[in-house]
Amino acid sequence: MLEQVLQEIRGRRRFVVSSHARPDGDGIGSALACARILRVMGKDAEVVMHDGVPRIYQNLPFADRVVHAEDVPANDAVILLECDSTRRTLLNGLEDCFLINIDHHASGRNFANVNWIDSSVMATAELVYKLAREACVPIDRDIATCLYTALMTDTGSFMFEGTNEHTFTVARELVLAGADPAQCARPIYFGHSAAKMRLLGAALSNLHREGPLAWIWVTQEQMQRFGAREEDCEGLVNYALSIADVQVAIFFRELADGRFRVSLRSKGVNVSGVAEYFGGGGHKCASGCPIEGPLAAAVSRIVDRLRAESIL
Ligand code: 5GP
Repeated sequence: MLEQVLQEIRGRRRFVVSSHARPDGDGIGSALACARILRVMGKDAEVVMHDGVPRIYQNLPFADRVVHAEDVPANDAVILLECDSTRRTLLNGLEDCFLINIDHHASGRNFANVNWIDSSVMATAELVYKLAREACVPIDRDIATCLYTALMTDTGSFMFEGTNEHTFTVARELVLAGADPAQCARPIYFGHSAAKMRLLGAALSNLHREGPLAWIWVTQEQMQRFGAREEDCEGLVNYALSIADVQVAIFFRELADGRFRVSLRSKGVNVSGVAEYFGGGGHKCASGCPIEGPLAAAVSRIVDRLRAESIL
């Protein structure tokens, strides 16, 4: 499939690279690296995202060039990273484009003209790295920095299940190519806003625990009170999962329309089926979905589903 992706790239000139709305480190890092690789190949390439670059990723090379848009600009092909549908990008106009889908989610779908889905890797960044190698594009310091950041964040700092010697081989090659692990980690782990810390305090004061399950939530009112943004919610769920003997943690974020975004995390059991049941997706140990409010109903529907799938 990699050869087919390369063949389609070689035959085209103008590319748009995008990822899902509310992009995470793998979405942003892989997209920035991919666009740079295309430019080294002599192509025109720009990263276009529906949502802006979250603050903790704004120091990544080329992050200042990301186009923040509702509609996809004119192109010969769009490369979508980390998406299971065009809808995940929230960009308009993709249905008329030639689409190349590169993804590592087990819940990935063949929605594009060319689909390269490999759920054996920990991050889409590993696929973008393979693409560069296959295209004989040298991995410079900027590409290495973007890909290392993507790999580091999608593996939870090389701690999530599935991280293996191959992950470290890729990480090592990226470090050899110029990625500085401490510099990459600093904005991610020591670059939070005070608003995020206040939101974390509120979320943890709402902690509920039932045996192997823990859940927390934040409301719109709390987010507004602390001046917190959507991106400040990233990672809060991990604090609930960090409790000894908790196997599954859930984070509920209230949306402006009264629905909730749900983040599911586990220490090993498969929670992706629950997310997919509610129209979302993701990985075995990290997945997400939308759900109708109010909060009590949302919690009980998710918990019932975890029980129905014999996860609890
Ligand atoms: P998060 O909880 O951080 O939003 O997402 C965790 C994982 O689940 C990520 O890999 C993310 O791409 C995936 N994910 C979250 N929400 C959705 C969704 O609505 N649809 C799909 N397909 N994947 C999702």
